[in-house]
Amino acid sequence: MNPRTRPDLETIPSYVPGRNFPGAIKLASNETTFGPLPSVAKAITAEIELSNRYPDNRSVELIETIAESLGVSADHVAVGCGSVALCQDLVSITCAGPDDEVLYAWRSFEMYPIVTQIAAATAVTVGLTAEHAHDLDAMAAAVTDRTRLIFVCNPNNPTGTAAGRAEIERFLDAVPAHVIVVLDEAYFEYLRFPENDHPDGVEIGRTRPNVVVLRTFSKAYGLAGVRLGYAVADPTVIAALGKVHVPFSVSRLSQAAGVASLHAQAELLSRTDWIVTERERVRAALIGSGYDVPPSQANFVWLPLGADSVRFATASAEAGVLVRPYGVDGVRVTIGDRHENDQFLAFAATALETKT
Ligand SMILES: *Cc1c(COP(=O)(O)O)cnc(C)c1O
Repeated sequence: MNPRTRPDLETIPSYVPGRNFPGAIKLASNETTFGPLPSVAKAITAEIELSNRYPDNRSVELIETIAESLGVSADHVAVGCGSVALCQDLVSITCAGPDDEVLYAWRSFEMYPIVTQIAAATAVTVGLTAEHAHDLDAMAAAVTDRTRLIFVCNPNNPTGTAAGRAEIERFLDAVPAHVIVVLDEAYFEYLRFPENDHPDGVEIGRTRPNVVVLRTFSKAYGLAGVRLGYAVADPTVIAALGKVHVPFSVSRLSQAAGVASLHAQAELLSRTDWIVTERERVRAALIGSGYDVPPSQANFVWLPLGADSVRFATASAEAGVLVRPYGVDGVRVTIGDRHENDQFLAFAATALETKT
């Protein structure tokens, strides 16, 4: 007889990481191609020497450094083993079973359905607009008295679209003030909005205690392998997150890497300007080759190829460039360095001939 686990586990989709094989150009996981800064690598190395000791479970220095960089007090910040851990913790602190609903757009970040199902909560999804963006009016209309948590991925992974501040605030005005709204800003650093419409969740959240902002060191800060993300929220939400936090899950190495990265913030953020320039170049080239490419506010572009998505991604892999297909919706392509992008563009230009 098999050891007994939850029967509904079979229905939970497994997270599908980007593929990898030696020598391939990897544009499948939205990582940065830059290695860690020497100052960050040095801070991590120093902590390795202390690895026999547990980390600070309260991550005091890291949390204070994050809080200071954002202009909030430390009781507004929680850290996690990647922001995916905080996604899961947010469901844990709001949902206790199938009567509790988690609302999110689809297609969006593939962890939302997984963490919802792990909590045995009920997922409510709202389709994207024809422009591949969040339909925030339809999402507000989908709120019920059972809605416990709303994920808004801004910019949206995998489509790259983003809502501006006015649009986000109109949505928040339409949502009951007791419903927690997560603004997942994993790609915040790549946003290029006019100043007066810049959708900065931390600013938006200053007057709205139901807003939780998630950010990560995995993307613009280039620490995907280290695992560190954070939440900015009302102290009551931060305290609740503390209850479900897996003790010591933010390692010594992560804490030191986060502090060192914030000390090098200007240098790390200047890299995003380069990525944004490449993003616009790649998008223009793809449009020039005949593709439909929605404007992106992230470090990737979206090709809504429909039923051709898997074939396209497989052909791209055969041409040495790994990209990420999403069922029959589209393909997400990370912006890499210039040579990597050029290799993808060369493939894409030829792939059009066989595109349906
Ligand atoms: C990459 C990503 C995250 C977080 O990643 P971590 O590595 O767990 O910090 C969260 N949300 C979205 C939408 C992402 O794309």
